[in-house]
Amino acid sequence: MTTWILTCSACGRQEPQDAAVGVCAECGQPFLVRFTSPPPARGHILSRWDLWRYAAALPLTEGETPVCLGEGVTPLLEAPSLARHAGVRRLWVKDEGVNPTASFKARGLAAAVTRARARGVPGLVVPTAGNAGAALAAYGAAAGIRVRVYAPATTPRPILDTIRAMGVELVTVDGHIGDAGRRSAEFAKESGYFNVATLREPYRVEGNKTLAIELAEQLDWKLPDAVVYPTGGGEGVIGMWKAFAEMAEWGWTGSATPRIIVAQAEGCAPIVRAHRAGADRATPWENPVTHAAGLRVPGPLGDRLVLRALRETQGDAGSVSEDAIREATRLVASATGIDAAPEGGCGLAVLADLVRAGRIDPASQVVLYNTGSGASYRA
Ligand SMILES: *Cc1c(COP(=O)(O)O)cnc(C)c1O
Repeated sequence: MTTWILTCSACGRQEPQDAAVGVCAECGQPFLVRFTSPPPARGHILSRWDLWRYAAALPLTEGETPVCLGEGVTPLLEAPSLARHAGVRRLWVKDEGVNPTASFKARGLAAAVTRARARGVPGLVVPTAGNAGAALAAYGAAAGIRVRVYAPATTPRPILDTIRAMGVELVTVDGHIGDAGRRSAEFAKESGYFNVATLREPYRVEGNKTLAIELAEQLDWKLPDAVVYPTGGGEGVIGMWKAFAEMAEWGWTGSATPRIIVAQAEGCAPIVRAHRAGADRATPWENPVTHAAGLRVPGPLGDRLVLRALRETQGDAGSVSEDAIREATRLVASATGIDAAPEGGCGLAVLADLVRAGRIDPASQVVLYNTGSGASYRA
């Protein structure tokens, strides 16, 4: 079990454990969890086969049973042919498509719904580009909590079908996730439902830490030189950045942190633009377009934290065209048998570009996150 407080990532304002907060009341920026319990040891890892094996590193109280659908513990698969294609020494794919509801979003929502259930919320609402809605629908069903999802009408059909199958309320919206975000916030205000939008509550990031903790354990606690993450709202990157720092502080790993590499689509690349400009905030992307739905996030609330994660890890960011995404997605599948999502394909294409441009050392050992499943995108 752990104890913690919430601290604002920008101004340092503090709130107690399990306060019913969204963003910071003073500056509007996200809260992060800061543990007040003694540092956990690797020996505290439980022998259970889901991400709660790392409960000692997660916000979970004494005697509490987490909301769980078997999330996490995803395969880490070495792919020599993709390593040759990208021009790096070694490359592994961490296949997040095998999670419940077919994306890494299961990790964050398992943690967020666990904490929301502990507070007895009347319902949960989320704006989504698709996969977060499917994951919230499933974890809401598992926890017996009412759920409403706001998703763009253009969301891939299999994802909308999964949301409907869980028996939750689905509202489709003209526009992108930012438009869905406004509708969710209004609904939360009038209904009392708790809004679990990316970075609007601190626990999705906590669940996403296991993207990195699990990787470390799979590599016998020797971290790779770089991790490539297809990035939209940034909760995956922020979770990994926080976990790399915590694992170093707790002595679970050495102090060298992998470079975090952000992959985006050319049609919606606010983080790439801001990183290349050396800015510490991103300006919203006008007219966001990409078929990699999870990357269509024009104005992420977590922009500052993602940019900080890039600076602090000597990371980098790149974007590629829709055609390059399609081609790389096919290549991941045909070369490895992993049913890659377009977001995963985007990661491979960006990696290959950055190696060619001399921004990633060819001697690197790299882990590419395939964040979802190709099946979710086939109509
Ligand atoms: C949500 C999502 C992303 C982007 O993740 P963020 O944490 O929001 O940056 C990438 N790929 C897939 C498949 C997603 O569902």
